[in-house]
Amino acid sequence: MKTDITPDPSSTRHETRGLSRREMLSGVGLAAVGLATAGGLAKAATLPANAAELKTLADPEALEDFIFDIEHSPEGWHGAGGSATEATVAEFPISQSIAGVSMRLNPGAFRELHWHSIAAEWAYVLEGRVRTTVISPDGTAATDDFEVGDIWYFPKGHGHMLQCLGNQPCHFLLGFDSGHFSEFGTFSVTDWVSHTRPDIVARNLHLPMESLRSLPRKELYIGTGAVAGDALPRYHNAQVEQSQNPHKFSLLRAQVREFSGGNIRVATQKQFPINTTLTSALMTVKPGSFRELHWHPNADEWQYVVSGSGEVTIFGSHGRVKTMGYDQGKVAFIKQGYGHYIENTGAEDLKILILFNAPDYQEIALSAWLGANPVRLVADHFGLDAKWVEKMSAGQEGFVGPASDRAVTL
Ligand code: MN
Ligand code: MN
Repeated sequence: MKTDITPDPSSTRHETRGLSRREMLSGVGLAAVGLATAGGLAKAATLPANAAELKTLADPEALEDFIFDIEHSPEGWHGAGGSATEATVAEFPISQSIAGVSMRLNPGAFRELHWHSIAAEWAYVLEGRVRTTVISPDGTAATDDFEVGDIWYFPKGHGHMLQCLGNQPCHFLLGFDSGHFSEFGTFSVTDWVSHTRPDIVARNLHLPMESLRSLPRKELYIGTGAVAGDALPRYHNAQVEQSQNPHKFSLLRAQVREFSGGNIRVATQKQFPINTTLTSALMTVKPGSFRELHWHPNADEWQYVVSGSGEVTIFGSHGRVKTMGYDQGKVAFIKQGYGHYIENTGAEDLKILILFNAPDYQEIALSAWLGANPVRLVADHFGLDAKWVEKMSAGQEGFVGPASDRAVTL
């Protein structure tokens, strides 16, 4: 992983240093200078909107690290059936609202029946195929098969199971709507039953005591068994009513918004109704392009890099700007309301999977904001001749294409 290139919290200078004349005259230069200026102006602001703004002006805390290597997390489980590595607040302290797990299952393996007492579960399939079962408190159940690009959502407390489908291993990214959730503290069926008095288990399940001799003595977590084939298996209880509230959605097939420098697909609760606490997005930033300066008024943003490499730059008020690099398998966390942009610094597409901890999507982009203000006022903020404001982008840019596309000539 690349290291933080702006460890000095007072370094808005980093943003303006080295800008070419062309950049100074382009939207990029204006944005950088504008933010530096806005950082200065923010010191006079009196309306605290987040914890950062409540800090004393004399000693604002440095921005925290906001990138973590989830694939090589110190907290993990590795066994014959697969593996799981996680990013909770213990490993990745900034990520208070979302925890993540990268899980791999081998053919025939299953993540055992379990539930989560404090978090809903979301997932995106990166490789292979997965079958899930889930039961709701109303007694309805669902079995769904997932392939690459599909997401699932299980509300908090609903009992579920994940199984590798077919002869190829699978890999999926799990997201939970609490950073304090740990995958290694779930309520697992074997853990429960193996720690319950055997005569109680026998009577509850209508089994003779001698049938329980081979019960596991502890949590199975990821078990192994027969390879799951395409044919849907029958339930133990054939009368179980099927859920009519889908737990599955194809993010890869969601409507795409295209811009010159990239594209984004978003799935809110509107598209995926059972998903009441999160919004999902799949974003591609093309080489030489960047996701424009913006912020999200209603949500934290949690990212996982599917492929490619880039840099995230965050603005946290008090002149604090911090840039960190990331690439495949890293997660990033951007606090609600913090300004940010994301550059593709590599030669291939930068593909990012995103979770927001709100059921609706909100964004305010710098270009759209400035476009919604009087020309003279914008000119006076930045010390610009009004003729340059007339040339500025006036609407949402989304993704800004390579520099050659955007050059401003005198
Ligand atoms: Mn789970
Ligand atoms: Mn964002």
